[in-house]
Amino acid sequence: MKAVRNLVQRLQPQPLSSPEQLVEAGLIPPDHIDAVQEAAATLPVSVTAHIAGLIDPASPDAPIAKQFIPSPQENDMQEEEFADPIGDIPHSPVAGIIHRYPDRVLLTPVLTCPVYCRFCFRREAVGDGLLSAAELDTALSYIRDNKEIWEVILSGGDPLILSPRRLSQIIDALDEIDHVAVVRIHTRVPVVDPKRVTDSLISALKRPTPVFVVLHCNHADELVTESEQAISTLVENGFPMLSQSVLLKDINDDPETMADLMKKLVGCRVKPYYLHHGDKARGTSHFRTTLAAGRAIMSKLRGRLSGLCQPTYVLDIPGGHGKIPAAECSLQALDNGDWRVTDWQDNTHRYRDQAGVTECVETRRATC
Ligand code: SF4
Repeated sequence: MKAVRNLVQRLQPQPLSSPEQLVEAGLIPPDHIDAVQEAAATLPVSVTAHIAGLIDPASPDAPIAKQFIPSPQENDMQEEEFADPIGDIPHSPVAGIIHRYPDRVLLTPVLTCPVYCRFCFRREAVGDGLLSAAELDTALSYIRDNKEIWEVILSGGDPLILSPRRLSQIIDALDEIDHVAVVRIHTRVPVVDPKRVTDSLISALKRPTPVFVVLHCNHADELVTESEQAISTLVENGFPMLSQSVLLKDINDDPETMADLMKKLVGCRVKPYYLHHGDKARGTSHFRTTLAAGRAIMSKLRGRLSGLCQPTYVLDIPGGHGKIPAAECSLQALDNGDWRVTDWQDNTHRYRDQAGVTECVETRRATC
């Protein structure tokens, strides 16, 4: 990786990128500066002008402030936490490629982001870094040589921080590989720096190969007029949009907040895709909830919200063993081959596969 220079898209105004600037903007108290300096040594600071404009310095516990403003709690690292919580490194055959599942790879052309989310699971990998031309060639050759790769996921870092010219080169190269049927881009840009969604960016991404855009968004407050316009621009130019969110303590870990987020995403024509359980990245314990709390939220959403608004709640198994669905299961196999089925109101029924008969044998009302 080499330092990012003119291959990223530079737009004014510059983000707040030092603890001193955060103090000056009233976003951290002066007595936090040393602790925040220590935290910034692991994960840099960057708060775009757009995000800074959404933060009220008098409300440091508001959902947007908590996601982006560094806190001294990040220096509290737990024994159970990892530098590489989902095992990217053991699955990286060449620089810029993470190959965990047979039919898809992550291509990480850049490790820079417009903002640095304080809970990031790649918090010890992201920052300054861009694949060199030779590294990018090697990564693309890896994709070309592995014919089982059906989908390429551009991630990082945030790939939409790259200049349209650089992005266009990458998308062109992928478009020319016959076995790559789909490109997926994981980004936070439409909600953290919506001005980057320009006509040049759209032209850089449009190709015959379908390009899906997966928006990382964790709270309905992120979906303000400018971000909604950026999302509309993408959708109206033919990019199907999905979302991924992270379950975050005191930010979105209650059913009402989560329901608002999912409904607002669908209202923006973004289909909720994943809700990630917080990964055990070092210094992020203050953001994590329990699996039990996440499952309870998902059970409440199942009854209350349209299927369009339902994300899949997933846990990435530490060590790089992949994702598993983490929500409560509504089906339980019984000894006689029948199934016990739990409906959205927490009543149970017996389902008999062979005879095609569904018989309600017992009911139990929800107690929560
Ligand atoms: S934008 Fe994504 S990669 Fe960058 S800090 Fe946030 S979560 Fe991490």
